[in-house]
Amino acid sequence: MTEINPFNKLKVISHSEKIRQLLSGKIPSPVRVVLEPTNLCNHNCVFCFYSNFRDDNKVYLSREKLFELAEDFKKMGVKSVSLVGGGEPMIHPAIYDLIRWFRENNILISITTNGSTLKDSEIDTIVRASTYIRISLNAASEQTHNAVNAPRSSHFARIISNIEKLRSHRDKIGANMLVGIKNAIFEKNFHEIENMVALGEELKVDYIMFAAVVGESPASRKILDDAKVIIEEMKKKTRVLLFHSFYKKPLKTPKCISNPLIGTVSANGDMYLCGFMDHSDGRFRIGNINENRFIDLWGSEKHYEVYRSQDPEYCARYTCKMKEYDNVIRDVFLEDKMHIYSI
Ligand code: SF4
Repeated sequence: MTEINPFNKLKVISHSEKIRQLLSGKIPSPVRVVLEPTNLCNHNCVFCFYSNFRDDNKVYLSREKLFELAEDFKKMGVKSVSLVGGGEPMIHPAIYDLIRWFRENNILISITTNGSTLKDSEIDTIVRASTYIRISLNAASEQTHNAVNAPRSSHFARIISNIEKLRSHRDKIGANMLVGIKNAIFEKNFHEIENMVALGEELKVDYIMFAAVVGESPASRKILDDAKVIIEEMKKKTRVLLFHSFYKKPLKTPKCISNPLIGTVSANGDMYLCGFMDHSDGRFRIGNINENRFIDLWGSEKHYEVYRSQDPEYCARYTCKMKEYDNVIRDVFLEDKMHIYSI
């Protein structure tokens, strides 16, 4: 039987009205917006993709802008907002007020965080508002955490305690939030994979997602080969759902259909066609919400221009889940491989 879970790409079918608009060449309002409240961070992970950029561009969206965005999302019928980095979203001074606002206005949220700054008094707020919280935890021991995440003072015990509080409060009130760990694997931490799974068991998290820190050297390839064997073995022994995204080669697909289902706003206010590619060349920039409102930029002439000028060769460099959604859209809506009217 088809597995019903949040990771099943068939869920895109539930947005059939928007998909039909996309297929007729129109840009519908987004289902979800991925929002970077700030690119500042209280950690300094040794592999951080953003650290060079961050040194020269320390930015965060003002409280006023965040609430203006929230109002726009509500008017547009956005269903969920993902609070992510750039930096560490939970250090933004307005973050808990914003989360409360989303909850009061029936917009779901999800959070990707290093888990070090969560306030005890706000655990209930987070759990009631979120569909998932994903803790970027790259070590199963304090020593390795300090070496990899490089916080100014040790945060490991606090993070572990925060995960425990989130999960136990979720269970206590019967909320629908998933608690997951994302572990970026490389030479400094791959020896802790078994311990990470044991820690996940102990904390009763729902899943652990292992990702590869980018690196194509034969040494890093060997680490991933070994890590994969360990993870596959651990899958047989644990009730925690384990994933890895090693060696996921970017799919080469025709021109992207589904990117407008997800909006993207960077900490400096830039809006891009999608959140999956490297935007340093500015090629797929729609505008900046510090100059124009999100609601005005979305579906603007510039948005259509950027949407129509997509280049599948360019996208072929990126691993993105929208290509999997696009494959579902093509199979179901264009080729009717499900025989949708024969129910
Ligand atoms: S990177 Fe992915 S989501 Fe972005 S435009 Fe290309 S295929 Fe679409």
